[in-house]
Amino acid sequence: MGTEELERLSIEHIRIYESFEKKEKCALCRSIEEFENQVLNSISTDLVMDLDFFPKFGHEYTFCDYHMSKMEDMRDKLGMAIMLKKLITLEIRKMESGQPENKGSKLFMKKSHDKKCFVCEKVNIKAMNSDISITLDLWKNKESFRENFRKQEYFCFKHNRLLINEAKNKLSKKEFQVFREEITKVQMKYCKELENDLEWFINKFDYRYSSEPWYNAKDSIYRAREILRRDNI
Ligand SMILES: [Zn+2]
Ligand SMILES: [Zn+2]
Repeated sequence: MGTEELERLSIEHIRIYESFEKKEKCALCRSIEEFENQVLNSISTDLVMDLDFFPKFGHEYTFCDYHMSKMEDMRDKLGMAIMLKKLITLEIRKMESGQPENKGSKLFMKKSHDKKCFVCEKVNIKAMNSDISITLDLWKNKESFRENFRKQEYFCFKHNRLLINEAKNKLSKKEFQVFREEITKVQMKYCKELENDLEWFINKFDYRYSSEPWYNAKDSIYRAREILRRDNI
Protein backbone atom coordinates (compact mmCIF):
# COMPACT_ATOMS: atom_id res chain seq x y z
CA MET A 1 0.00 0.00 0.00
CA GLY A 2 1.42 3.43 -0.98
CA THR A 3 1.92 6.24 1.54
CA GLU A 4 -0.89 8.26 0.06
CA GLU A 5 -3.29 5.41 0.43
CA LEU A 6 -2.17 4.75 4.00
CA GLU A 7 -2.89 8.38 4.86
CA ARG A 8 -6.51 7.92 3.93
CA LEU A 9 -6.95 5.19 6.52
CA SER A 10 -7.48 5.90 10.19
CA ILE A 11 -4.68 5.16 12.66
CA GLU A 12 -6.64 2.16 13.89
CA HIS A 13 -7.03 0.81 10.35
CA ILE A 14 -3.29 1.20 9.77
CA ARG A 15 -2.52 -0.65 13.00
CA ILE A 16 -4.56 -3.63 11.83
CA TYR A 17 -3.31 -3.39 8.24
CA GLU A 18 0.30 -3.54 9.43
CA SER A 19 -0.38 -6.38 11.79
CA PHE A 20 -1.57 -8.48 8.83
CA GLU A 21 1.61 -7.74 6.91
CA LYS A 22 3.39 -10.21 9.16
CA LYS A 23 2.46 -13.81 8.53
CA GLU A 24 3.05 -15.56 11.80
CA LYS A 25 0.61 -16.53 14.53
CA CYS A 26 -2.72 -14.73 14.94
CA ALA A 27 -2.50 -11.17 13.57
CA LEU A 28 -5.36 -10.01 15.78
CA CYS A 29 -3.77 -11.38 18.94
CA ARG A 30 -0.61 -9.55 17.99
CA SER A 31 -2.45 -6.30 17.51
CA ILE A 32 -4.10 -6.41 20.94
CA GLU A 33 -0.99 -7.51 22.77
CA GLU A 34 0.36 -3.99 22.95
CA PHE A 35 -2.89 -2.70 24.38
CA GLU A 36 -3.00 -5.61 26.79
CA ASN A 37 0.50 -4.81 28.01
CA GLN A 38 -0.51 -1.19 28.57
CA VAL A 39 -3.39 -2.33 30.76
CA LEU A 40 -1.17 -4.76 32.66
CA ASN A 41 1.49 -2.09 33.16
CA SER A 42 -1.06 0.39 34.43
CA ILE A 43 -1.97 -2.06 37.20
CA SER A 44 1.34 -1.45 38.92
CA THR A 45 1.25 2.29 38.44
CA ASP A 46 -2.29 3.65 38.38
CA LEU A 47 -4.88 1.02 39.16
CA VAL A 48 -3.95 0.20 42.72
CA MET A 49 -4.32 3.93 43.47
CA ASP A 50 -7.57 4.29 41.50
CA LEU A 51 -10.47 4.71 43.89
CA ASP A 52 -12.97 3.81 41.19
CA PHE A 53 -11.29 0.54 40.48
CA PHE A 54 -9.44 -0.76 43.52
CA PRO A 55 -12.42 -1.06 45.88
CA LYS A 56 -14.21 -3.17 43.23
CA PHE A 57 -11.26 -5.48 42.80
CA GLY A 58 -11.84 -8.83 44.46
CA HIS A 59 -15.61 -8.20 44.50
CA GLU A 60 -16.57 -7.47 40.89
CA TYR A 61 -13.19 -8.02 39.29
CA THR A 62 -10.36 -10.48 39.46
CA PHE A 63 -7.75 -11.78 37.01
CA CYS A 64 -8.13 -14.86 34.84
CA ASP A 65 -5.42 -17.46 34.82
CA TYR A 66 -4.04 -16.29 31.50
CA HIS A 67 -3.58 -12.69 32.61
CA MET A 68 -2.29 -13.76 35.99
CA SER A 69 0.50 -15.66 34.24
CA LYS A 70 1.20 -12.72 31.93
CA MET A 71 1.56 -10.50 34.95
CA GLU A 72 3.95 -12.95 36.49
CA ASP A 73 6.27 -12.44 33.52
CA MET A 74 6.42 -8.71 34.08
CA ARG A 75 9.37 -7.08 35.78
CA ASP A 76 7.43 -4.89 38.16
CA LYS A 77 5.58 -7.17 40.55
CA LEU A 78 4.43 -4.56 43.06
CA GLY A 79 0.95 -4.09 41.62
CA MET A 80 0.48 -7.82 41.31
CA ALA A 81 1.52 -8.38 44.93
CA ILE A 82 -0.96 -5.73 46.13
CA MET A 83 -3.79 -7.30 44.10
CA LEU A 84 -3.00 -10.83 45.19
CA LYS A 85 -2.80 -9.80 48.83
CA LYS A 86 -6.25 -8.29 48.53
CA LEU A 87 -7.69 -11.51 47.06
CA ILE A 88 -6.17 -13.58 49.88
CA THR A 89 -7.30 -11.12 52.56
CA LEU A 90 -10.87 -11.21 51.23
CA GLU A 91 -10.88 -15.02 51.41
CA ILE A 92 -9.63 -14.88 55.02
CA ARG A 93 -12.38 -12.39 55.92
CA LYS A 94 -14.96 -14.68 54.36
CA MET A 95 -13.73 -17.60 56.44
CA GLU A 96 -13.55 -15.50 59.60
CA SER A 97 -17.10 -14.25 59.23
CA GLY A 98 -18.36 -17.76 58.52
CA GLN A 99 -20.04 -16.33 55.43
CA PRO A 100 -21.80 -19.11 53.54
CA GLU A 101 -20.69 -19.81 50.01
CA ASN A 102 -22.75 -18.29 47.22
CA LYS A 103 -25.81 -20.32 46.34
CA GLY A 104 -24.71 -20.45 42.71
CA SER A 105 -21.36 -22.00 43.37
CA LYS A 106 -22.48 -25.58 42.96
CA LEU A 107 -20.04 -27.61 40.94
CA PHE A 108 -20.23 -27.17 37.19
CA MET A 109 -22.77 -24.39 37.42
CA LYS A 110 -21.90 -21.28 35.45
CA LYS A 111 -22.61 -18.30 37.67
CA SER A 112 -23.94 -15.11 36.23
CA HIS A 113 -22.41 -13.19 39.14
CA ASP A 114 -18.92 -14.62 38.61
CA LYS A 115 -16.17 -12.10 39.00
CA LYS A 116 -14.88 -10.81 35.69
CA CYS A 117 -11.24 -10.58 34.70
CA PHE A 118 -10.40 -6.91 34.68
CA VAL A 119 -7.91 -7.16 31.80
CA CYS A 120 -10.14 -9.41 29.66
CA GLU A 121 -12.98 -6.97 30.00
CA LYS A 122 -10.83 -4.02 28.93
CA VAL A 123 -9.44 -5.98 26.00
CA ASN A 124 -12.84 -7.27 24.92
CA ILE A 125 -14.49 -3.89 24.94
CA LYS A 126 -11.74 -1.65 23.64
CA ALA A 127 -9.72 -3.77 21.28
CA MET A 128 -11.45 -6.98 20.37
CA ASN A 129 -14.71 -5.65 18.96
CA SER A 130 -13.33 -2.71 17.04
CA ASP A 131 -10.41 -4.76 15.69
CA ILE A 132 -12.85 -7.29 14.29
CA SER A 133 -14.93 -4.76 12.43
CA ILE A 134 -11.85 -2.95 11.10
CA THR A 135 -10.50 -6.26 9.81
CA LEU A 136 -13.75 -6.95 7.97
CA ASP A 137 -13.78 -3.42 6.63
CA LEU A 138 -10.28 -3.80 5.23
CA TRP A 139 -11.02 -7.26 3.87
CA LYS A 140 -14.03 -5.89 2.05
CA ASN A 141 -12.40 -2.78 0.62
CA LYS A 142 -8.68 -3.39 0.14
CA GLU A 143 -7.45 -6.06 -2.21
CA SER A 144 -3.87 -5.76 -0.88
CA PHE A 145 -5.17 -6.47 2.63
CA ARG A 146 -7.13 -9.44 1.38
CA GLU A 147 -3.99 -10.91 -0.15
CA ASN A 148 -2.29 -10.70 3.25
CA PHE A 149 -5.38 -12.12 4.91
CA ARG A 150 -5.21 -15.25 2.75
CA LYS A 151 -1.53 -15.71 3.59
CA GLN A 152 -1.95 -15.64 7.39
CA GLU A 153 -0.50 -18.55 9.32
CA TYR A 154 -3.69 -19.00 11.35
CA PHE A 155 -6.26 -17.21 13.50
CA CYS A 156 -6.59 -18.24 17.12
CA PHE A 157 -9.91 -20.03 17.72
CA LYS A 158 -11.40 -17.06 19.53
CA HIS A 159 -10.61 -14.56 16.77
CA ASN A 160 -11.68 -17.05 14.13
CA ARG A 161 -15.06 -17.36 15.81
CA LEU A 162 -15.46 -13.62 16.35
CA LEU A 163 -14.54 -12.89 12.74
CA ILE A 164 -17.01 -15.39 11.30
CA ASN A 165 -19.85 -14.26 13.59
CA GLU A 166 -19.32 -10.61 12.83
CA ALA A 167 -18.86 -11.26 9.10
CA LYS A 168 -22.28 -12.88 9.06
CA ASN A 169 -23.80 -9.63 10.37
CA LYS A 170 -21.68 -7.19 8.49
CA LEU A 171 -21.18 -8.63 5.02
CA SER A 172 -23.67 -9.44 2.30
CA LYS A 173 -24.61 -13.09 1.89
CA LYS A 174 -22.32 -13.48 -1.10
CA GLU A 175 -19.39 -11.69 0.55
CA PHE A 176 -19.84 -13.78 3.66
CA GLN A 177 -19.57 -16.98 1.65
CA VAL A 178 -16.28 -15.86 0.13
CA PHE A 179 -15.01 -14.68 3.51
CA ARG A 180 -15.84 -17.96 5.15
CA GLU A 181 -14.13 -19.91 2.40
CA GLU A 182 -10.99 -17.81 2.70
CA ILE A 183 -10.71 -17.98 6.48
CA THR A 184 -11.55 -21.69 6.55
CA LYS A 185 -8.81 -22.40 4.04
CA VAL A 186 -6.25 -20.68 6.27
CA GLN A 187 -7.49 -22.49 9.38
CA MET A 188 -7.84 -25.93 7.84
CA LYS A 189 -4.33 -25.96 6.46
CA TYR A 190 -2.83 -25.01 9.81
CA CYS A 191 -5.07 -27.22 11.96
CA LYS A 192 -4.51 -30.32 9.85
CA GLU A 193 -0.74 -29.88 10.04
CA LEU A 194 -0.98 -29.31 13.76
CA GLU A 195 -3.15 -32.37 14.18
CA ASN A 196 -0.58 -34.48 12.33
CA ASP A 197 2.27 -33.07 14.39
CA LEU A 198 0.43 -33.80 17.63
CA GLU A 199 -0.26 -37.31 16.44
CA TRP A 200 3.43 -37.79 15.75
CA PHE A 201 4.25 -36.32 19.18
CA ILE A 202 1.97 -38.96 20.73
CA ASN A 203 3.53 -41.72 18.61
CA LYS A 204 6.96 -40.76 19.87
CA PHE A 205 5.95 -42.08 23.30
CA ASP A 206 5.62 -45.52 21.77
CA TYR A 207 8.93 -47.42 21.89
CA ARG A 208 8.47 -48.49 18.28
CA TYR A 209 8.91 -44.89 17.16
CA SER A 210 11.48 -43.77 19.68
CA SER A 211 14.39 -43.82 17.28
CA GLU A 212 12.46 -42.04 14.51
CA PRO A 213 13.04 -38.30 13.96
CA TRP A 214 10.72 -35.70 15.52
CA TYR A 215 10.00 -33.87 12.25
CA ASN A 216 7.89 -30.83 13.20
CA ALA A 217 6.28 -32.39 16.23
CA LYS A 218 8.54 -31.16 18.99
CA ASP A 219 6.80 -27.82 19.55
CA SER A 220 3.31 -29.03 18.58
CA ILE A 221 2.03 -28.80 22.17
CA TYR A 222 3.21 -25.22 22.38
CA ARG A 223 1.56 -24.40 19.02
CA ALA A 224 -1.71 -26.02 20.09
CA ARG A 225 -1.72 -23.95 23.26
CA GLU A 226 -1.10 -20.80 21.21
CA ILE A 227 -4.08 -21.32 18.92
CA LEU A 228 -6.27 -22.17 21.92
CA ARG A 229 -4.97 -19.67 24.39
CA ARG A 230 -7.72 -17.07 24.27
CA ASP A 231 -10.44 -19.62 23.73
CA ASN A 232 -11.76 -19.67 27.27
CA ILE A 233 -11.24 -16.03 28.18
ZN1 LIG B 1 -6.16 -14.22 18.13
ZN1 LIG C 1 -8.14 -12.12 31.64
